Amino acid sequence: MTPMTILITGGGRGIGAATALAVARRGFDVVINYQRDAASAEGVAEQLRSLGRRAFTVQADVGDERQVLAMFERLDAEAGRLAGLVNNAGIVAMKARLDEMDVARWRRMMDTNVIGTLLCSREAVRRMSIRHGGAGGAIVNVSSIAAVLGGPAMYVDYAASKGAIDTFTIGLARELAAEGVRVNAVRPGIIDTDIHAASGDRARPQKSAELIPMQRPGRADEVAAAIAWLLSDEASYTTGALMDVSGGR
Ligand code: NAP
Repeated sequence: MTPMTILITGGGRGIGAATALAVARRGFDVVINYQRDAASAEGVAEQLRSLGRRAFTVQADVGDERQVLAMFERLDAEAGRLAGLVNNAGIVAMKARLDEMDVARWRRMMDTNVIGTLLCSREAVRRMSIRHGGAGGAIVNVSSIAAVLGGPAMYVDYAASKGAIDTFTIGLARELAAEGVRVNAVRPGIIDTDIHAASGDRARPQKSAELIPMQRPGRADEVAAAIAWLLSDEASYTTGALMDVSGGR
Protein backbone atom coordinates (compact mmCIF):
# COMPACT_ATOMS: atom_id res chain seq x y z
CA MET A 1 0.00 0.00 0.00
CA THR A 2 1.25 3.52 -0.77
CA PRO A 3 2.37 5.14 2.48
CA MET A 4 0.03 7.89 3.65
CA THR A 5 1.51 11.23 4.55
CA ILE A 6 0.46 13.96 6.96
CA LEU A 7 1.78 17.51 6.47
CA ILE A 8 2.17 19.43 9.73
CA THR A 9 2.86 23.14 9.49
CA GLY A 10 5.10 24.41 12.28
CA GLY A 11 5.88 20.77 13.06
CA GLY A 12 9.36 21.33 14.46
CA ARG A 13 8.40 22.56 17.92
CA GLY A 14 5.62 22.60 20.50
CA ILE A 15 2.20 21.20 19.61
CA GLY A 16 3.28 20.53 16.00
CA ALA A 17 6.26 18.41 17.06
CA ALA A 18 4.11 16.41 19.51
CA THR A 19 1.56 15.90 16.72
CA ALA A 20 4.27 14.61 14.40
CA LEU A 21 5.13 11.92 16.96
CA ALA A 22 1.49 11.07 17.63
CA VAL A 23 0.63 10.54 13.96
CA ALA A 24 3.86 8.65 13.30
CA ARG A 25 2.87 6.24 16.10
CA ARG A 26 -0.43 5.74 14.23
CA GLY A 27 1.54 4.64 11.16
CA PHE A 28 1.62 7.79 9.02
CA ASP A 29 4.66 9.23 7.27
CA VAL A 30 5.12 12.91 8.09
CA VAL A 31 6.29 16.07 6.35
CA ILE A 32 7.41 18.67 8.86
CA ASN A 33 7.15 22.28 7.80
CA TYR A 34 9.04 24.95 9.71
CA GLN A 35 9.89 28.60 9.20
CA ARG A 36 13.23 29.30 10.92
CA ASP A 37 14.27 26.56 13.31
CA ALA A 38 15.70 23.93 10.94
CA ALA A 39 17.55 22.10 13.73
CA SER A 40 14.42 21.44 15.79
CA ALA A 41 12.48 20.29 12.72
CA GLU A 42 15.30 17.97 11.67
CA GLY A 43 15.45 16.58 15.23
CA VAL A 44 11.75 15.67 15.05
CA ALA A 45 12.23 14.07 11.61
CA GLU A 46 15.10 11.95 13.03
CA GLN A 47 12.86 10.75 15.87
CA LEU A 48 10.17 9.72 13.39
CA ARG A 49 12.67 7.87 11.21
CA SER A 50 13.83 5.98 14.31
CA LEU A 51 10.18 4.83 14.68
CA GLY A 52 10.39 3.43 11.14
CA ARG A 53 8.42 6.20 9.43
CA ARG A 54 9.44 8.25 6.43
CA ALA A 55 9.85 11.90 7.38
CA PHE A 56 11.39 14.99 5.91
CA THR A 57 11.42 18.71 6.65
CA VAL A 58 10.43 21.62 4.39
CA GLN A 59 11.14 25.27 5.09
CA ALA A 60 8.30 27.62 4.10
CA ASP A 61 6.55 30.66 5.51
CA VAL A 62 2.91 29.53 5.41
CA GLY A 63 1.78 33.11 4.83
CA ASP A 64 3.73 33.35 1.55
CA GLU A 65 1.92 31.85 -1.45
CA ARG A 66 5.06 31.22 -3.50
CA GLN A 67 6.71 29.33 -0.64
CA VAL A 68 3.57 27.28 0.07
CA LEU A 69 3.27 26.28 -3.61
CA ALA A 70 6.93 25.22 -3.62
CA MET A 71 6.37 23.19 -0.44
CA PHE A 72 3.45 21.29 -1.99
CA GLU A 73 5.43 20.68 -5.19
CA ARG A 74 8.10 19.05 -3.06
CA LEU A 75 5.44 16.92 -1.38
CA ASP A 76 4.12 15.84 -4.77
CA ALA A 77 7.61 14.82 -5.85
CA GLU A 78 8.90 13.17 -2.67
CA ALA A 79 6.08 12.16 -0.32
CA GLY A 80 3.48 9.40 -0.45
CA ARG A 81 -0.20 10.22 -0.90
CA LEU A 82 -1.27 13.24 1.14
CA ALA A 83 -3.84 11.95 3.66
CA GLY A 84 -3.95 14.86 6.04
CA LEU A 85 -2.95 18.42 6.83
CA VAL A 86 -2.51 19.97 10.26
CA ASN A 87 -2.64 23.76 10.10
CA ASN A 88 -0.64 24.27 13.28
CA ALA A 89 1.81 27.09 12.46
CA GLY A 90 0.74 30.13 14.41
CA ILE A 91 2.08 33.17 16.19
CA VAL A 92 1.12 35.48 19.01
CA ALA A 93 2.60 38.90 19.77
CA MET A 94 3.47 40.90 22.87
CA LYS A 95 0.69 41.34 25.38
CA ALA A 96 -1.04 44.65 24.53
CA ARG A 97 -4.35 46.48 24.42
CA LEU A 98 -5.87 47.25 20.99
CA ASP A 99 -5.09 50.97 21.39
CA GLU A 100 -1.38 50.10 21.64
CA MET A 101 -1.16 47.87 18.54
CA ASP A 102 0.03 48.73 15.02
CA VAL A 103 -1.09 47.48 11.63
CA ALA A 104 2.19 45.69 10.92
CA ARG A 105 1.54 43.40 13.87
CA TRP A 106 -2.00 42.62 12.64
CA ARG A 107 -0.75 41.83 9.14
CA ARG A 108 1.92 39.43 10.46
CA MET A 109 -0.65 37.74 12.68
CA MET A 110 -3.33 37.42 9.99
CA ASP A 111 -0.82 36.35 7.30
CA THR A 112 0.45 33.47 9.41
CA ASN A 113 -2.62 32.38 11.34
CA VAL A 114 -5.36 32.98 8.76
CA ILE A 115 -3.87 33.30 5.26
CA GLY A 116 -1.44 30.46 6.08
CA THR A 117 -4.32 28.17 7.01
CA LEU A 118 -6.34 29.13 3.91
CA LEU A 119 -3.38 28.67 1.56
CA CYS A 120 -2.26 25.29 2.89
CA SER A 121 -5.86 24.08 3.01
CA ARG A 122 -6.43 25.12 -0.61
CA GLU A 123 -3.40 23.18 -1.78
CA ALA A 124 -4.36 20.14 0.32
CA VAL A 125 -7.94 20.19 -1.01
CA ARG A 126 -6.62 20.26 -4.59
CA ARG A 127 -4.83 17.01 -3.80
CA MET A 128 -7.20 15.21 -1.41
CA SER A 129 -10.75 16.01 -2.57
CA ILE A 130 -12.38 13.35 -4.74
CA ARG A 131 -13.67 16.25 -6.85
CA HIS A 132 -10.06 16.76 -7.90
CA GLY A 133 -9.32 13.04 -8.39
CA GLY A 134 -7.93 12.61 -4.85
CA ALA A 135 -8.67 9.79 -2.44
CA GLY A 136 -10.03 11.90 0.45
CA GLY A 137 -8.34 12.98 3.65
CA ALA A 138 -8.62 15.14 6.73
CA ILE A 139 -7.66 18.65 7.79
CA VAL A 140 -7.20 19.70 11.41
CA ASN A 141 -6.88 23.39 12.17
CA VAL A 142 -5.22 24.46 15.40
CA SER A 143 -7.41 27.24 16.72
CA SER A 144 -7.38 28.40 20.34
CA ILE A 145 -9.79 28.74 23.25
CA ALA A 146 -8.92 32.45 22.84
CA ALA A 147 -11.45 32.38 19.96
CA VAL A 148 -14.11 31.96 22.66
CA LEU A 149 -12.54 34.08 25.43
CA GLY A 150 -11.45 36.97 23.17
CA GLY A 151 -8.00 37.60 24.66
CA PRO A 152 -8.83 40.98 26.29
CA ALA A 153 -5.85 43.21 27.25
CA MET A 154 -3.56 40.48 25.93
CA TYR A 155 -4.08 39.85 22.23
CA VAL A 156 -7.57 40.49 20.82
CA ASP A 157 -5.99 40.34 17.34
CA TYR A 158 -4.74 36.80 17.95
CA ALA A 159 -8.14 35.79 19.35
CA ALA A 160 -9.84 37.26 16.26
CA SER A 161 -7.49 35.33 13.98
CA LYS A 162 -8.52 32.12 15.75
CA GLY A 163 -12.20 33.09 15.53
CA ALA A 164 -11.67 33.23 11.77
CA ILE A 165 -10.20 29.72 11.90
CA ASP A 166 -13.27 28.38 13.71
CA THR A 167 -15.65 29.84 11.13
CA PHE A 168 -13.44 28.63 8.29
CA THR A 169 -13.44 25.13 9.80
CA ILE A 170 -17.24 24.98 9.88
CA GLY A 171 -17.62 26.31 6.34
CA LEU A 172 -14.92 24.20 4.73
CA ALA A 173 -16.18 21.08 6.52
CA ARG A 174 -19.60 21.58 4.91
CA GLU A 175 -18.09 22.50 1.54
CA LEU A 176 -16.10 19.26 1.44
CA ALA A 177 -18.36 16.87 3.36
CA ALA A 178 -19.43 15.01 0.22
CA GLU A 179 -15.92 15.03 -1.26
CA GLY A 180 -14.19 12.70 1.20
CA VAL A 181 -12.40 15.41 3.16
CA ARG A 182 -13.19 16.01 6.84
CA VAL A 183 -12.27 19.35 8.43
CA ASN A 184 -12.08 19.87 12.18
CA ALA A 185 -10.36 22.14 14.68
CA VAL A 186 -8.88 21.78 18.13
CA ARG A 187 -9.00 24.72 20.52
CA PRO A 188 -6.14 24.38 23.00
CA GLY A 189 -6.17 26.27 26.27
CA ILE A 190 -2.90 27.28 27.93
CA ILE A 191 -0.32 24.73 26.80
CA ASP A 192 3.26 24.63 28.00
CA THR A 193 5.27 25.54 24.85
CA ASP A 194 7.72 28.22 23.71
CA ILE A 195 4.91 30.39 22.26
CA HIS A 196 4.36 32.23 25.55
CA ALA A 197 7.81 33.85 25.36
CA ALA A 198 6.52 35.78 22.30
CA SER A 199 3.72 37.32 24.38
CA GLY A 200 6.31 38.49 26.89
CA ASP A 201 5.73 35.92 29.63
CA ARG A 202 7.55 32.62 29.23
CA ALA A 203 6.21 31.43 32.60
CA ARG A 204 2.53 32.13 31.73
CA PRO A 205 1.54 28.43 31.69
CA GLN A 206 2.78 27.90 35.26
CA LYS A 207 1.42 31.24 36.49
CA SER A 208 -2.04 30.59 35.01
CA ALA A 209 -2.89 27.41 36.92
CA GLU A 210 -5.60 29.06 39.02
CA LEU A 211 -7.45 30.28 35.86
CA ILE A 212 -7.82 26.70 34.66
CA PRO A 213 -10.49 24.40 36.14
CA MET A 214 -8.04 21.49 36.00
CA GLN A 215 -5.55 23.71 37.88
CA ARG A 216 -2.65 23.10 35.49
CA PRO A 217 -1.50 24.03 32.00
CA GLY A 218 -1.80 21.39 29.29
CA ARG A 219 1.02 19.50 27.61
CA ALA A 220 1.64 19.50 23.86
CA ASP A 221 1.11 15.74 23.70
CA GLU A 222 -2.39 16.15 25.18
CA VAL A 223 -3.35 18.41 22.25
CA ALA A 224 -1.54 16.13 19.80
CA ALA A 225 -3.63 13.14 20.89
CA ALA A 226 -6.84 14.98 19.96
CA ILE A 227 -5.40 16.06 16.59
CA ALA A 228 -4.20 12.54 15.78
CA TRP A 229 -7.64 11.14 16.60
CA LEU A 230 -9.41 13.72 14.40
CA LEU A 231 -7.06 12.77 11.53
CA SER A 232 -7.70 9.07 11.97
CA ASP A 233 -10.47 6.85 10.60
CA GLU A 234 -11.82 6.58 14.15
CA ALA A 235 -13.20 10.09 13.53
CA SER A 236 -14.81 9.03 10.22
CA TYR A 237 -18.20 10.71 10.99
CA THR A 238 -16.73 13.82 12.64
CA THR A 239 -16.48 16.96 10.56
CA GLY A 240 -16.92 20.64 11.39
CA ALA A 241 -16.16 19.93 15.07
CA LEU A 242 -14.39 22.49 17.27
CA MET A 243 -12.81 20.38 20.00
CA ASP A 244 -11.75 22.20 23.17
CA VAL A 245 -8.57 20.81 24.72
CA SER A 246 -8.36 23.33 27.49
CA GLY A 247 -8.61 21.67 30.89
CA GLY A 248 -12.18 22.93 31.24
CA ARG A 249 -11.35 26.59 30.61
P1 NAP B 1 5.44 27.26 19.19
O1 NAP B 1 6.03 26.31 20.17
O2 NAP B 1 5.84 28.69 19.21
O3 NAP B 1 5.64 26.67 17.73
C1 NAP B 1 5.13 27.36 16.62
C2 NAP B 1 5.55 26.64 15.36
O4 NAP B 1 4.99 27.38 14.27
C3 NAP B 1 7.05 26.63 15.17
O5 NAP B 1 7.41 25.36 14.68
C4 NAP B 1 7.29 27.70 14.10
O6 NAP B 1 8.37 27.43 13.21
C5 NAP B 1 6.01 27.62 13.32
N1 NAP B 1 5.71 28.85 12.58
C6 NAP B 1 5.47 30.09 13.07
N2 NAP B 1 5.24 30.95 12.06
C7 NAP B 1 5.35 30.22 10.91
C8 NAP B 1 5.22 30.54 9.54
N3 NAP B 1 4.93 31.78 9.12
N4 NAP B 1 5.41 29.55 8.64
C9 NAP B 1 5.70 28.29 9.04
N5 NAP B 1 5.83 27.93 10.33
C10 NAP B 1 5.66 28.89 11.24
O7 NAP B 1 3.84 27.29 19.33
P2 NAP B 1 2.77 26.22 19.88
O8 NAP B 1 2.39 26.66 21.24
O9 NAP B 1 3.20 24.85 19.62
O10 NAP B 1 1.54 26.63 18.94
C11 NAP B 1 1.12 25.85 17.85
C12 NAP B 1 -0.29 26.28 17.51
O11 NAP B 1 -1.13 26.13 18.66
C13 NAP B 1 -0.42 27.76 17.10
O12 NAP B 1 -1.34 27.87 16.04
C14 NAP B 1 -0.98 28.42 18.36
O13 NAP B 1 -1.71 29.59 18.05
C15 NAP B 1 -1.86 27.32 18.88
N6 NAP B 1 -2.16 27.43 20.31
C16 NAP B 1 -1.17 27.35 21.25
C17 NAP B 1 -1.50 27.49 22.59
C18 NAP B 1 -0.48 27.41 23.70
O14 NAP B 1 -0.82 27.76 24.84
N7 NAP B 1 0.73 26.97 23.43
C19 NAP B 1 -2.83 27.70 22.95
C20 NAP B 1 -3.80 27.78 21.97
C21 NAP B 1 -3.45 27.63 20.65
P3 NAP B 1 9.93 27.53 13.67
O15 NAP B 1 10.13 26.35 14.60
O16 NAP B 1 10.69 27.41 12.43
O17 NAP B 1 10.06 28.84 14.37
